[in-house]
Parts: sequence; C-alpha cells; structure tokens
Amino acid sequence: MTTELYPRERVGRVRDAAAAAGLGAVLLTPGPDLRYATGYDAKQLERLTCLVVPADGEPFLVVPRLELPAAQASPAGGLGIELVAWDETDDPYALVASRLPAGVGRVALADRMWAVMALRFRAALPGAEQVAAGGVLRELRMRKSPAEVEALRAAGAAIDRVHRRVPELLKAGRTEQEVARDIAAAIIDEGHTSVDFVIVGSGPNGANPHAEPTERVIRAGEPVVVDIGGQMPSGYCSDSTRNYCVGEPPAEYREYFAVLREAQRAARAAVRPGVAAQDVDAAARNVIAGADYGEFFVHRTGHGIGLETHEEPYVVAGNAEPLEPGMAFSVEPGIYPGPHGARIEDILICTEDGHESVNHTPRDIVIVD
Ligand code: ZN
Ligand code: ZN
Ligand code: ZN
Repeated sequence: MTTELYPRERVGRVRDAAAAAGLGAVLLTPGPDLRYATGYDAKQLERLTCLVVPADGEPFLVVPRLELPAAQASPAGGLGIELVAWDETDDPYALVASRLPAGVGRVALADRMWAVMALRFRAALPGAEQVAAGGVLRELRMRKSPAEVEALRAAGAAIDRVHRRVPELLKAGRTEQEVARDIAAAIIDEGHTSVDFVIVGSGPNGANPHAEPTERVIRAGEPVVVDIGGQMPSGYCSDSTRNYCVGEPPAEYREYFAVLREAQRAARAAVRPGVAAQDVDAAARNVIAGADYGEFFVHRTGHGIGLETHEEPYVVAGNAEPLEPGMAFSVEPGIYPGPHGARIEDILICTEDGHESVNHTPRDIVIVD
C-alpha cells in the first residue's frame, strides 16, 4: 500500500511512544499492531515473525527464512529496517533476547500476540516485565491520519455500494442465509478483500443485535436488520447497518423506528472535538429513554474502527475521553423490543469543527418488494 497510509516514520513514532512510556522494547507479532507500524500484513503462523522496537536502539524485524521473500516484498521491506531471518533449527526467541540490551526492564507485547509466544518470550527474557502494547499504540492508532481517513472513506463507499444492492437480493421466500451469501459475495465484489460479518436479522432475529444468519424464510411485512462489514486491501474496515422491510412494515415498528432515527441523528450531531465519548452515547440514549424504549437499547452506542472493526475509542457510558479530530467510530443505537428490532449505523470521523460520515445511503426504512 502507499507509504502515505503506512509512512516510513511510523516505527520511529512507536519507538518514541515506547520510550515515553518507560518501556525497554515493543514486540509486535502479526496482527493489526504490526500492520499499523510497518504496513506488513503478515500471516499468523507458529513460526515467529516479530518487529522488535527497542526504546533505545535500532528496530529490526525477525522473520522465518521461509517468510523472508514475503517480508521483503511487503511495505516493511522498504522501511530501511534490518530484516533478520532465522533458520528452522534456530531459537528465534533467544535471537530476539540476544539483540536486546541486557537487563531490559519492561517489554510491551502486541495485544494479539499468541499466548504461546508471550510465554516463550517470558522464558527468553526472565527479568522483563510484560505489558500489553495496546496501552501505547492506542494513542497512535486512535488518531487517524488524513490517509487513514481517506482509506475509511473508501471502505464506507464500498459498503454503501453493497447496501444499494440489498434490495435486489432481499426477497420474501428467501432464507436469511441465502441473502447473506449473496451479500457476502457483493462485499468482495465491491472491493473488500475479506468479509468480516454479515447480519441479516429478519423478524424476531432482528431483535438479536448479533444474530447469525439462519435458515429462516423471510416473509412479507417483516423488518430486516442488515449489518455488514469487511476489510479493504488498505487494511481498513467498513461497518454499516441499514433497515429493510419486505413490503409495508408493522405500525409499531414505524413508531419506534422514528425514535431510533432521531436518536441516531442526535448522537451524530453531538460529535465534535472536546465532547466526551460517553456524551455521544448519552445523546442517543436520552432520546430513546425519553420515548420509553430505554430498556430495549441494550448495547453501547459505538466502537472505534480502523485496521480492526472494533478498536478504541468506545462510545459508551464511563468513557470520559474527549473526542479529537481524526478519531473514527460507529454511531449505532438500536431498539430491540421484539418481535423485530432496528439499528442504524454509520461510521463517523471527528473533524476540526464537527464530524463527517463515511456512509451516505438513506437511513430511513428501505421498503423492498
Ligand atoms: Zn456489534
Ligand atoms: Zn459496528
Ligand atoms: Zn455493524
């Protein structure tokens, strides 16, 4: 991917953050943290691949010799950092330990490092205290660069194109699974490299926020929650929920949908720099509670999004963290009274003076025939 999205200086920023946090080194195995730091979308394997960023010293990337060509071809190969290949009979953990300053105090491990690897590092660095790297990396990953915002916009546009195709796919007489399979194909077709999730919650299944598509046949007059997302070639993720109905929806559904629509609008309107994340949650919750549907809004209002579908910041009561320009997160209140439910979800970017939505399809009930 472009060096703009994964800039060369980012490993240096990780090192600065590590030093500021009093860490001796940051150890990043394959996953979103490694990709963020280097652009390298490395496979998770039992053989150790690890970016080692000493707070004081040169970073290096340890790779199994079999993976060396892939590492060289990846953006990590162009960063000017040393690639250290290890052979089948080498001990890569001892190799890392031997290259770190003696008596390294605290090491931060990628949040998604496999436990077996964390334990091997513990044995190889017996004097070092292990902490999660997320505590340091969150400060960097939470504030998206202009190139990251652009990548999220492209992901939003791609998932919007999928939502625009849903009316052709969602028909009375088809099962949720049939519709979900077609939507999954459309997610790839519209430019994603992988499908993260496809929720097609028809009728009573719409009242379950995380419903898996079933063999249930969708019938006329039933509201359907469609919540979909995937990962783009850039590494950045999409996530958007819209609500469909095969024919005319029930009157009580229209009633609470109007409340939800207003709640989601109010939450979006609350987004600007300096506002606490929890106040965006409250903006949605107050509207829903004020209309007596509070008990049916059973989840937080949103989650951050970037290289992971769910990352910081979380838009939830108790998170007093003030929003800053570049933060990206979902605004997705829901009301689930049964025998159906609804959720409206957009990905917003906090801007200098307000916010921008990366999703632009109509938020009203989409009637399909
Ligand atoms: Zn969810
Ligand atoms: Zn979401
Ligand atoms: Zn979603």
